[in-house]
Amino acid sequence: MNNILEKLIGLQKLDLEIRKLGHSLQQIPKKEKLIDKTIEASKLPFDEARARSGELKARIDALAESVIALEENERQLKLRMPKIKSNEEYSALLKEMDNSKKKREESEEEQLKLIEESESLERELPALEALYLEQEKGVSSERDLLEKEKADLESVLIRRKEERNKLQADFPQNWLSKYNHIASARNGLAVVPVRKGICQGCFIGVRPKIVQDLHYAEEVISCEGCQRLLYLDEETNA
Ligand SMILES: [Zn+2]
Repeated sequence: MNNILEKLIGLQKLDLEIRKLGHSLQQIPKKEKLIDKTIEASKLPFDEARARSGELKARIDALAESVIALEENERQLKLRMPKIKSNEEYSALLKEMDNSKKKREESEEEQLKLIEESESLERELPALEALYLEQEKGVSSERDLLEKEKADLESVLIRRKEERNKLQADFPQNWLSKYNHIASARNGLAVVPVRKGICQGCFIGVRPKIVQDLHYAEEVISCEGCQRLLYLDEETNA
């Protein structure tokens, strides 16, 4: 095969590999995000239960304080009793005491209900946490694999880029710019084989004269359809 063509094919092979490695690397953060989302979703029931448990405890504490305050209030009212002179004052005091007692009993009732809910929630929490931790453990190996895949891809990419730079260093400048020009216009594919008389870049038939010229491979020929540089794929062309 024509020497320059061979070099161009080698260059293109490297470029295509570099591009593929880049695409694979781009997929990794997406895969990581997917794992994060799965874990977040599996943690949600636990987080919600824990938040509710915190709310309940705060409310229970507040109710306990209010019960103590009401008890004190009742005690103070009782102390006033012996000093009362009139019936009106007496019935007002009784009414006040009754109100305070009612409020206190309501608070105590609510407190009991919330304590019950809180205790049942506390019993559920460990199972919810275990479920989430188990899932987190399951994906940690997935994360490790992704990290390794990323490191492997990066190291291969660095090597290929170095090879590319070396190849480019002693590449004939005019061919290099021609190659770059076609590759950027034709989705990275600047050199393509002709198989059974068909350009494998644009899939248009190549004139028999060109196929014949390609056979001798004395010069580099462009496809008349897509301007890509052609070479004859001898194996399938036979
Ligand atoms: Zn073509």
